[in-house]
Amino acid sequence: MQGGLFGDETATENCIFCKIISGKAPGHILYRDDEVMCFLDIAPVSVGHTLVIPIKHHDNIFTLNNSEVSALAIQTRRFAPIVKRVTGADGLGVHQLNGRAAGQTVFHYHTHLIPCFHGKPMQIHGRKPASQTALAEMAERLRAALK
Ligand code: 5GP
Ligand code: ZN
Repeated sequence: MQGGLFGDETATENCIFCKIISGKAPGHILYRDDEVMCFLDIAPVSVGHTLVIPIKHHDNIFTLNNSEVSALAIQTRRFAPIVKRVTGADGLGVHQLNGRAAGQTVFHYHTHLIPCFHGKPMQIHGRKPASQTALAEMAERLRAALK
């Protein structure tokens, strides 16, 4: 467990994102290196909603080191235009929440990349899980666009 500032931190062994990283839980993974993983949000605000996370468990932004910050920023910048283009979005929300008071619900640091459309109100949280088929299809399209 990292030193949490809010009392709402998660032990690594109970962390769903750590489980996806270690392969103990399923995930539609788009990219992974030694420091960063990018994968699809299970309950997307809109199709293509992507999360960028550090491989090492950090509850929130406050304990990230500079190398992790840099690696996260590079992958966020890399995926932003790809997610926007593949989904045909009009814009892209890049959001990051720290602590329950800020609306954070999974206490492993992550950045949301959310495709946005004219006339559709901006949200950070989706309402329901997408179908595995829809997630797999979108993951395939995003992975293909990386090449
Ligand atoms: P937060 O509220 O912490 O900023 O966002 C947490 C995000 O994690 C939510 O958008 C939620 O849908 C997503 N999420 C929660 N559990 C899982 C899961 O098991 N798999 C994936 N891929 N995303 C998850
Ligand atoms: Zn974790």
